[in-house]
Amino acid sequence: MQVARLAGAAIRMVGLVPPAETLDLMAGTGTSAPTLMVTYPSYLGQLTRLARERGLGPADFRLRRINVGSEVLSPALAEAAEKTFGAPVHDGYGMTEVTPVAGAICRQRHLHIDAGIGLVEVCDLDTGAPAAPGALGTIVATPFFPYRECMPLFRYDTRDLVRQLPDAPRTCEMANVPATSHILGKADHVLRTQDGPVTPREIIEVLDALPGACWPVRHRADVVDGQLHVEVAASSVPETSDIARHFAKAGLDATVDVVPGEGRELRRYRCDLVENSFASAGRAA
Ligand SMILES: [Zn+2]
Repeated sequence: MQVARLAGAAIRMVGLVPPAETLDLMAGTGTSAPTLMVTYPSYLGQLTRLARERGLGPADFRLRRINVGSEVLSPALAEAAEKTFGAPVHDGYGMTEVTPVAGAICRQRHLHIDAGIGLVEVCDLDTGAPAAPGALGTIVATPFFPYRECMPLFRYDTRDLVRQLPDAPRTCEMANVPATSHILGKADHVLRTQDGPVTPREIIEVLDALPGACWPVRHRADVVDGQLHVEVAASSVPETSDIARHFAKAGLDATVDVVPGEGRELRRYRCDLVENSFASAGRAA
């Protein structure tokens, strides 16, 4: 906030109000239109859909950059948002408990975390030992002095899931910074199938890339008789046939049911935490 004030920039803390209200604030090319948006992937999905429904494109916005975090961002949604808003989407990683330990995603979709700020370990999902190359593990972080003076956490297990990368030199633009795979979801959401563990990212990347997908794709995933079973809300997918084939192309053996969205326990997203109380208070004023 203070930095923005010194730079003469304005910040609008919009929060998660109904997407139509946010889009009203974003649209326009005048000097009051925002140049940077920070939000969650699921909310970005809603905004992207709505912008397309209104027939809006890059010429209708002044955005130069979109930052997202706290949820899995799929390449399909990132590409759609970039085409719609005309600004690059940057996916970041951070967590209040281990601040300032934070990471950036490179073009090869690794997560790179600066080793000078804290000790970052990848602990095997099952054993807690250092994860071997290719294995799933969680990010365990210890901020270095002086940051831990105000956040005295040691070996904080974030439960954020990554895969340890092969033990080989990197060729990306951030090759000199330690790296893991992209965040794959939360450890508690891994599904143990007969073919091995399936992560939330694997499922979301398939669903988000379905033809005509309405982001965020409403679904739930489970293991039935050892196999991945996915229920997808009919309202999220206009083409309901062949979804299992899309999973198969991604290497996932899944059974799929298209279900009515209402009345079912489907996956909740950050965008579901809409702050209606703020919106109505604003209107009343
Ligand atoms: Zn990289």
